[in-house]
Amino acid sequence: MAIATLLPATTAFIQRAPRMLIGAEWVEAADGQTMPLRNPATGEQLCVVPRATVDDVDRAVLAARQAFDDSPWSRTRPRERQNLLWKLADLMQRDAELLAQLECLNNGKSAAVAQVMDVQLAIDFLRYMAGWATKIEGSSVEVSVPLMPDQQFHSFIRREAVGVVGAIVAWNFPLLLACWKLGPALATGCTVVLKPADETPLTALKLAELVQEAGYPDGVFNVVTGTGITAGAALTHNPLVDKLTFTGSTAVGKEIGKIAMDSMTRVTLELGGKSPTIVMADADLGSAAAGAASAIFFNQGQVCCAGSRLYVQRKHFDKVVADIAGIANAMKLGSGLDASVDMGPLISARQQERVWRYIEMGRESGATIACGGEQFGPGYFVKPTVIVDVDQQHSLVQEEIFGPVLVAIPFDDEADALRMANDSPYGLGASIWSNDLAAVHRMIPRIKSGSVWVNCHSALDPALPFGGYKMSGVGREMGYAAIEHYTELKSVLIKL
Ligand code: NAD
Repeated sequence: MAIATLLPATTAFIQRAPRMLIGAEWVEAADGQTMPLRNPATGEQLCVVPRATVDDVDRAVLAARQAFDDSPWSRTRPRERQNLLWKLADLMQRDAELLAQLECLNNGKSAAVAQVMDVQLAIDFLRYMAGWATKIEGSSVEVSVPLMPDQQFHSFIRREAVGVVGAIVAWNFPLLLACWKLGPALATGCTVVLKPADETPLTALKLAELVQEAGYPDGVFNVVTGTGITAGAALTHNPLVDKLTFTGSTAVGKEIGKIAMDSMTRVTLELGGKSPTIVMADADLGSAAAGAASAIFFNQGQVCCAGSRLYVQRKHFDKVVADIAGIANAMKLGSGLDASVDMGPLISARQQERVWRYIEMGRESGATIACGGEQFGPGYFVKPTVIVDVDQQHSLVQEEIFGPVLVAIPFDDEADALRMANDSPYGLGASIWSNDLAAVHRMIPRIKSGSVWVNCHSALDPALPFGGYKMSGVGREMGYAAIEHYTELKSVLIKL
């Protein structure tokens, strides 16, 4: 058993009771309130962080507003924004192990995996976005202006930073989700107030230290830790915020979307999913089963685009399900500090309870638990579970569980597979496992989701836009699409 030793810096960071960054100041909540963070692997308290008040959030937004409107940052050239982002990425690289350990202790995920996935993807993404800082272009347009036929004009379109960004993120990839918002914001010249998830603020607070160390002016990046209901809502309602960017549940996303529409605040919503994994009869069944298992069990199934619905062409259904069950049964569960562990705990007792309710619901409705279906503690563990004999309309198939629970259903032909894959309120991702090029190309345009993977699942790249159709959200993260979401277009017409 290879238990990672905590770095002295990790222990020191947690022991010093991290504070929030508002403008240049590291502060407690205005009323001194705190909230406890727990280690999901043990259920024990890790430390406390400030529970931001509405006043704290308003001060953070004001700091971001002033930094955007009137500070050296507002005059920063693209090259400097590029270099600062590279510097930040370099500092994250230096502290990659520390960041991974904080993510492990706070979220429960494997420290080893967090270092090569969460942290490295975040670093790669910031470097990718650093490249965009110097490539943001407008255009010039030859115009006619029919109402003034005798005049000459010079006309151009500017792409400008949208302004103060209010970013609210979920707990499943705390650092990575924060960087998906921070990267395009800092590349385009915006300023940011980040509200990390209630459960997982530690890497956001460490990130704020690194932003300061990189040399960003005060107020460009602010972090307020607190609850969604107080700090998140205060950020959402603050009139000085120009853009809201949210990653979380569809229920909260809908509320934020409505509030944003009321004030015409720009908004991007990255929401829930119930992504299908489709295994066609011609697929390489071994890699399809392994791929389907990792599509649902990676990060304890707490992945927005997890392959949580499995559709297998009928003649191979039993074999693929048995193979996945075999993989699940062999998985070792335990603390994310143990590098030999395949699956960690869920984020919280609440999430464990939620996932367990779905498993019980399956049992009660006569579904078959092909493997797993057990929970244990201390810590918030649920065994990787595969459920069969469920109807397409069952809540297990239609609702996002957000845990290591796979529902599997057979299909007869391509049309049947497409019908069931699209029969979902969500549309975040989908994977097709097949080597039949023609079938794959017929299916890709007919799948209603923001990403389609072929012979892989949840494979992300900074250059590829990521986001949802239907209830999975509005807008896209990553790629040039993100730059578009953090900028406004301004049309300029000059009469000569
Ligand atoms: P959640 O919606 O409960 O919370 C997300 C964030 O919103 C947290 O920071 C929370 O404090 C805040 N919040 C809660 N209520 C709020 C309110 N009334 N006003 C403002 N902010 C509020 O979601 P969660 O349980 O933390 O995360 C899981 C969900 O996130 C899943 O549905 C998952 O699919 C989704 N997710 C989506 C993506 C994506 O890119 N599409 C990525 C990761 C997670």
